[in-house]
Amino acid sequence: MPASCLPRHAADHPPPHRPRLAVSSKPSNPFRKAQFLTSANKLGQLPPDTGNEVAFAGRSNAGKSSALNAICDQQGLARTSKTPGRTQLLNVFPVDDPARRLIDLPGYGYAKVPEAMRLHWRGVIDTYLRTRESLKGLVLVMDARHPLKDFDCHMLEFGAASGRACHCLLTKADKLSRSEGLRTLAAVNKEIATIAPGASAQLFSSLAKTGLGEARALVARWLEIP
Ligand code: GDP
Repeated sequence: MPASCLPRHAADHPPPHRPRLAVSSKPSNPFRKAQFLTSANKLGQLPPDTGNEVAFAGRSNAGKSSALNAICDQQGLARTSKTPGRTQLLNVFPVDDPARRLIDLPGYGYAKVPEAMRLHWRGVIDTYLRTRESLKGLVLVMDARHPLKDFDCHMLEFGAASGRACHCLLTKADKLSRSEGLRTLAAVNKEIATIAPGASAQLFSSLAKTGLGEARALVARWLEIP
């Protein structure tokens, strides 16, 4: 159509400015503000025991670092490498406020850690679970294909006996079919009801982002993130 055929008003006047619809950005995730603060070799090196903490524990290779990274939506926050030095320390990550912290407990079961060191860490973790006032909840990370190994049960028993809220993240759920996942979840729920009454469990996958919202919501509640 030649330009002259355009209705006059359309040719003469640019279309009225229409405000753009706001493009919704991702809902803000306070865990994105989490950052590494310090590594503590013993309990005395932790920040003052005030505010709220949520601790993450799990056998090495269970997927704990990946879970922390997924929850915080930060790829490199917790190291996913198998660096022995790092797995033997309590790593502290304040979230949006120094009074709200995630604590990455040393990965137990690390193959190359001598028995004496394993026992030492067991003592440190047990004392932490028993005495830390600010500890509001324990997230136990387990590979969904191999849940509730001896040390996992010890952690759950000990956590529950210390009056801590406990939650099991059954990671790598993407490696199970839907029905296998549901069967595993039911079996874990049944078992934890006897060893840690009140504990909860869920399927999770850092890779597929399964259960991410549920895990985040629980940790945020324990930390009292508004
Ligand atoms: P950590 O030792 O408990 O901190 O375990 P990592 O987070 O380092 O994970 C151990 C291995 O499991 C790595 O090779 C990860 O890529 C893998 N992994 C962790 N989470 C998942 C998951 O949700 N799905 C799958 N398929 N692999 C995972």
